[in-house]
Amino acid sequence: MQRVFIEEIARYEGQAVLLRGWLTNRRSKGKIHFLQLRDGTGFIQATALKGELPEAQFEEADHLPQETALEVWGVVRADHRAPGGYELAVQGLRVIARPSREYPITPKEHGVDFLMDHRHLHLRHRRAWATLRVRDELERAIHDFFHARGFVRLDAPILTPNAVEGTTDLFEVDLFDGEKAYLSQSGQLYAEAGAMAFGKVYTFGPTFRAERSKTRRHLLEFWMIEPEVAFMTHQENLKLQEELVAYLVGRVLEKRRLELEMLERDTQPLEKAAQGGFPRITYTEAVERLNRIAAEKPELGLTPLAWGEDFGAPHEAALSQQFDRPVFVEKYPAAIKAFYMQPDPDDPRVVLNDDLLAHEGVGEIIGGSERIHDPELLRQKIREHGLPEEVFDWYMDLRLFGSVPHAGFGLGLERTVRWICGLEHIREAIPFPRMYTRMRP
Ligand code: ATP
Ligand code: MG
Ligand code: MG
Ligand code: MG
Repeated sequence: MQRVFIEEIARYEGQAVLLRGWLTNRRSKGKIHFLQLRDGTGFIQATALKGELPEAQFEEADHLPQETALEVWGVVRADHRAPGGYELAVQGLRVIARPSREYPITPKEHGVDFLMDHRHLHLRHRRAWATLRVRDELERAIHDFFHARGFVRLDAPILTPNAVEGTTDLFEVDLFDGEKAYLSQSGQLYAEAGAMAFGKVYTFGPTFRAERSKTRRHLLEFWMIEPEVAFMTHQENLKLQEELVAYLVGRVLEKRRLELEMLERDTQPLEKAAQGGFPRITYTEAVERLNRIAAEKPELGLTPLAWGEDFGAPHEAALSQQFDRPVFVEKYPAAIKAFYMQPDPDDPRVVLNDDLLAHEGVGEIIGGSERIHDPELLRQKIREHGLPEEVFDWYMDLRLFGSVPHAGFGLGLERTVRWICGLEHIREAIPFPRMYTRMRP
């Protein structure tokens, strides 16, 4: 009998096939057992009727514990009540491995901490399965998007002497002979070197930040996608971000419908995002809007902002809720942004940067900017930020030999997964989350 996978089961309607997988749940009504199976590619119900399989196997099926590995064969039947639209009429089964003790994650409700303590097993369950398949689709879509546009993937180092996004959240590593390095906060500086060598590059790798506050959007270890393009302007940068995000959402809507359904994700807001046309407002307009909201809706408890202050999560949430798709906030005060951002020629108090805030209250998923290409200005900014000049020598070189305007951005993978899947907390968006309060499993 042909061994098939659940994800391709529709092709075998009316035929006898063999499935290999695990038992997730089981229910009996006298002469009929309902076996819930998963095989990694999906979930299906197998129905065993007394008399249609050998008696001993029918008996055995009534005693199998959760997570028994087994082989089941039978005929594929269309059933509109079944989640995937099909079920298996069992003709026989064989146990491959019985669990050696009781499986800890039962169909009853468990608390988040319990599930995260058992994350190595929790990955087998529907919610994690659906979420991480969306993540996988996004990873592929990211590579497809950039390769179709002629970008070269450049791998940035993980150990680096350079602080990129401020010095407060660095993970320091002791090297040999007392020398120090940090785990990379961002691959951007290296992506800039790549842009000058290959024109268009993107990095896709893990990044590390010692985030000490408990939030629903910060991990210690997360994956970032950082494109960097020579001769790209601020306006073109926003366009590239919009095309990327619209493409990614479109891909998930196209390829991961079932998963979104399992997550009970309302797809309406995603359909909007897939259309592009993201509104753009400046930081200054955003402050005005937020102060208006704070005054009109005191029940939100939003702190009013003075020009020059950074947004908190509640500000980003309130702002993003005003739009039906992701919104660009551009031109932030230079003083609250990283050292490498190009000042706006029309108003040097602000920089040519943007944050892309996902709507529905999610907030920042992208930070981008045009980079300073003038060597003197860059040197001055490195000093003003109190960064050690000698470790930036190599970075300065990029401005000494054919320096050109260039721009790029960083998209947080887990933030994107969290938004697209509609997750409460970012910890679900990565297989094994690393947080201030969680290092295991
Ligand atoms: P935030 O303001 O939310 O702390 P940031 O401005 O510090 O983010 P950037 O330095 O702009 O972040 O990094 C680019 C992107 O990386 C962010 O837009 C976000 O998607 C993602 N990101 C940043 N920090 C984290 C984190 N601790 N965990 C997960 N993703 C993150
Ligand atoms: Mg931050
Ligand atoms: Mg930010
Ligand atoms: Mg940012």
